[in-house]
Formats: sequence, structure tokens, C-alpha cells
Amino acid sequence: MTTDTKATETKAFEADVSRLLHMMVHSVYSDKDVFLRELISNAADACEKLRFEAVSHPELLADDPKPRISISADADSKLITVEDNGIGMSRDDVTEALGTIARSGTRAFIERVGAGNASEDTQLIGQFGVGFYSAFMVATRVDVISRLAGSNEAWRWSSDGKGSYEIAPAPLEAAPKRGTRVVLHLMDDAVSFTGSYRLEQLAKSQSGHVPVPITLIEKPGAEARDIADGTALWVRPKSEIKPEEYTDFYRGLSGQYDEPAATIHFRAEGRQEYSVLAFVPGSRPFDLFDQDRKGRMKLYVRRVFITDEADLLPRYLRFMRGLVDSADLPLNVSREMIQESPLLAAIRKGLTNRVLGDLAKLAENEAEAYAKIWENFGVVLKEGLYEDHERREQLLKLARFRSTTSGENWRGLADYVSAMKEDQKAIFFMAGDDRARLEASPQLEGFKARGIEVLLLTDPVDSFWTSMAPEFDGKPFKSVTQGVAELSEIPLLDDAKKPDTAATPEVDGFLAFVKAALGDAVSDVKPSDRLTESAVCLVAPEHGPDRQFERLLNAAGRLDKTAKPILEINPRHERVLALAGLGDDEQAFKDDAAHLLYDEARVLDGDKPADARAFSERLARLIARGISKG
Ligand code: ADP
Ligand code: MG
Repeated sequence: MTTDTKATETKAFEADVSRLLHMMVHSVYSDKDVFLRELISNAADACEKLRFEAVSHPELLADDPKPRISISADADSKLITVEDNGIGMSRDDVTEALGTIARSGTRAFIERVGAGNASEDTQLIGQFGVGFYSAFMVATRVDVISRLAGSNEAWRWSSDGKGSYEIAPAPLEAAPKRGTRVVLHLMDDAVSFTGSYRLEQLAKSQSGHVPVPITLIEKPGAEARDIADGTALWVRPKSEIKPEEYTDFYRGLSGQYDEPAATIHFRAEGRQEYSVLAFVPGSRPFDLFDQDRKGRMKLYVRRVFITDEADLLPRYLRFMRGLVDSADLPLNVSREMIQESPLLAAIRKGLTNRVLGDLAKLAENEAEAYAKIWENFGVVLKEGLYEDHERREQLLKLARFRSTTSGENWRGLADYVSAMKEDQKAIFFMAGDDRARLEASPQLEGFKARGIEVLLLTDPVDSFWTSMAPEFDGKPFKSVTQGVAELSEIPLLDDAKKPDTAATPEVDGFLAFVKAALGDAVSDVKPSDRLTESAVCLVAPEHGPDRQFERLLNAAGRLDKTAKPILEINPRHERVLALAGLGDDEQAFKDDAAHLLYDEARVLDGDKPADARAFSERLARLIARGISKG
């Protein structure tokens, strides 16, 4: 390139950055202090990147092999400086990293924050990877002086966060020998951050466990003082680590500021040697369902950060945050090769088993804590029910459901099975998108009348795993909106209420009439043993998707041909008996009634009448008839 790299250039920020900065500068955040953790986190990342590069290019370390972050304060000049001896940035790196936002989540961030929910905002900064810009919450101007490891140029970036920045070559004597110096010119109301006690407390509590030592220089000319030793938390024995230390570490790692819901810390020994420190977050990360969302488990090899893109856990555990530090993987292989390594596959397997095992223990010993995890991540874990055949049984044990008898409690399948009725052969469920509507479904009546528990499944993923013919404890899952209910052998709770009379010949005749009237709108019309109160309901044929799954597949355009439903009619229902008793001179009326019964069943299913116009006409005729009779 022939650009004159000697002169100062002024460049406009990318539009997204400008918007973001505007929000930062005018922020009403209460937690402005997150800026420090973000800068320390970037400095630590830079040191780790260098550590990784130095494996194949040891000369990059030159005479300064130890990673270091130093924070210095100058109250009189209203300055805070965060400096590292990490990888540093080239000119292109600087303009790329500090002038644009490459990450796709940024727009989402801006939209969320723009929508204004201040308490949530700072929580999001770390998660969205827009950490650097948080410096503008406390600074009127930010200077970044950086020198890429191995380069003989240094660059100075400077901005007041108002739409543009300057970039110019920096004299080498005024730049770090290697790495990056970030200088914050503090706003008046942020000068108190220079207080050494405050700064030390902040750095320790937020970032005390980054794997790089941190020193503090309290004021110009003062000695550098160690405030964090950079010992990787995960290599320390569990018994010596306090809960707060785990929490700080989790926060630094996840960018979330909540408490972890569970901490998994262990060392695997034997054929594979690796340490794991992983957390189940205390709340849902915003991008849990983002298609592009990678797992958030970092891979280290002997304390050198390698990548956060290794698939260390299956997708259905993508809510986990943490790291694996392997003693066996070679350091000097490319990130791509690591991905294919059989060692990694073994780690993945061991880690997955451990996470599921720990969750199972928690479910057993601390039901309430587990329920909270399930509430946040159950919907993701359930993806494993169809993605991970090998562990399906294990995952089914972890699964929790609402049911017709659960109230607001979560129900496990073991409990369900032990409460099954004597002749009950299947685990019954009903899937849909709304629990209240499910509970009011006519299809459930016969089950309720017999005291049979039915799981109420309201996540789209439920339709997928239940369609794979899973079993639990030898019992198949069966949709109550599909096939035969097989209820007749199980006695009613209150026998007096529903005499179990078989359909009369008149009713049989009426059913045949309805079938003829509806033509191919339905595949069959049958007497129902699942209805006790309602007159009609729709069910799906025995084989193929149940009603809800069919709806989902249809919406996704994944069905060329929908199976015709079966209309079930309650042969004991008063209205049905009356209709069945009508004579041949009432053909037209019966025909209207047949169609209206079908539409009634559709509406009860949350659908529209089959033909709105014809429906209104029939209804009008019916009302007219009612009036004339009355
Ligand atoms: P993130 O850390 O999530 O990537 P940031 O906004 O915190 O997002 O930082 C943006 C980018 O700026 C980083 O990805 C990195 O490339 C660069 N950067 C920031 N600080 C430093 C630093 N101290 N050393 C090297 N690069 C840095
Ligand atoms: Mg960052």
C-alpha cells in the first residue's frame, strides 16, 4: 500500500460504532466500573494470544517472556492507564478492532440497549463483545498506543468517542516495547476511580483470576505493586478456593454478572489428563438461540489459551461457560487440527458425561436449584433428546415437565412412571404452544376422568424428540392427540358419572352420516373413549406426526401433504344422542350440524373453521331455526 503512514489520519467510525459510542457516552449506567474489567480482559486476551504465537515463534517474546498487565493512576492529570505486554496491534488491527464492529451480535445489542432497560444494559456489554468502547463511559478521550509483537512500528489511536478517531504513527520511545497501552482521560465525575484503594478492589474483585499477573502503580513515580498473581484458578486445589473466587472467575469468563447456578471443577487423570472449570450460568444468555452462537468453552493446553472454537461440548450444552486445560494435546498444532484430534474427542466425551452426571446429582440432592437450571436451560437440554441417541435415557432422567397434575412444580419421568395407573401402558403427553389451552383441550377429558397424568409439552423442541419414538423405563411416549387412546381398560375415577355405554345403532348411523357429509376433510369419524364432557375432538392417525408436530412441520413448509385428521365423537354426549335421533326429514339440518361439529373440533384445537363463509351461513341457519322454534 502506498498510503502515507507517517501522517495523522482522521477517520470516521463505522455507523454502528458511532451509535454504540453515543450510548456509552450518554449512558445512565450505574455500573460504570465495568470499563476496568473490559480493559483488563482485553489485555489478558492479548497476553494469551502472544503466549500462543510464541509457541511457534519464541523470538516474539524477546527479552520479556513474562506476561504482565499494569494499571496506573494519576489523579492530578485525571488519567488511568492499562498496559499489557501482549500481542499488540498493527495499524490495520487498530483500525479494524477499534473502528468497526465485526461481530454480528452488535446490532442486536444496540437494539436492546436502544430500547432502554438500563439495568440490563451493562450486563450485556461484556456478552456482546463491545467491551473496549465501555471506556467511553468514564473517559472524555481514550488514547491507545500499540506495538505489534515483532514489529518496529507503533501506532497511536485517539478519540473522544464523538464520531471519529485519529490514527498516527507513534514514536517508538513513547510506546510500549510490545503490546498495548490504553490511556483514559477521565471525566470529572470519574476521577474517583483513581483512588488506589478503589482501583485495587475493583481490579481484584472483577479480574483477580485472569491468568496474567496484574500490578498497580498508585501514582506517578510509585513502585509497581502486585495485586493479582495470575495463577490460573483451575490449577489450584478445590478445597482452597472460596465461592467468591469462583464467582469472580465465572463473571470474567462469561461476561455475565450473575451468580453461577452450578460450578464444575475437576481434574481428569489416567489415560487423558485435563482440568475442567465450568459453570452453569445463573441466567439465560441473550443469544442462547442464536444460530451462529458458538459454545463458550475455552480450550487451554498447559495453561496456554488455544481457542474458544473447539467443540468441547455438544450443542445442547451450549449454555455452559468455562474451560478445559489439557496436558496431552500438542501445543504447536493448528487450531483446525486440534478440532479433529482424537484426544479432543475423548475430552469431549468425558466432559459431557461429567456435566450430565453433575446435573443428575444436583437434580437428586438439590431439587430446587436444579429446577431453576431446568427453567433456564431445559429447552436447550431437550435438544439432546433427539441429537444424542446414546445419552437419551440419561437426558430423559434429567428432563422435567409440567403435567395435568403438577401444578407449578416440575415433574420428572421417574415420578410420572411410579404414579402410572395399573393398566396404563404409555407415558401420555400433549404438545402445543400454550399450557392453558392444552389444559382445556377436549382430548384430555378421558385421561382426567381416569386420573391419568398427561405431560403438557409447550416447547417446539418437544414435538421433535417425542416424534422419535423414545421410551423411558420401557414405556413408550404417546400423544393424546393421536391414534387410539386405549383408555377403556382403565376405570373411571367416578364410575357413577359416566356410564360406559357403547354406541347405539342410531349413533353409529349418525357417525356414518357425518363421515359422508364431511367427505375427505377427515380421514375417519369414530366414537371416542377420550371424551367425557365435550362432543367432539380431532386426533391424528396412529402413524405419522401428532397434531402439534404436524402443525409445526406445516408452518416450516416441511410437509407436502397433511394427513387428514380423525374426527372423534363422544357417543354418550347429549347433543350427539339428540342428533342421532333425528329423522330422515332433517337431512339438511344434520348436514349443517355435521360440519359445525367438525368446525367446533377445529376451534377447540386452536384452529379456524375450515371455511369461514360456510361456517357463518350454517351458524346463521342454526340461530334462525332456534329462534323460530323458541
Ligand atoms: P472483544 O474483546 O470481545 O473482542 P473488545 O471491544 O473488548 O471486544 O475489543 C475489540 C478488539 O480490540 C479485540 O478483539 C482486540 O482485537 C482489540 N484489542 C482491544 N484491546 C486490546 C489489547 N490490549 N491488545 C490487543 N488487542 C486489543
Ligand atoms: Mg474485550
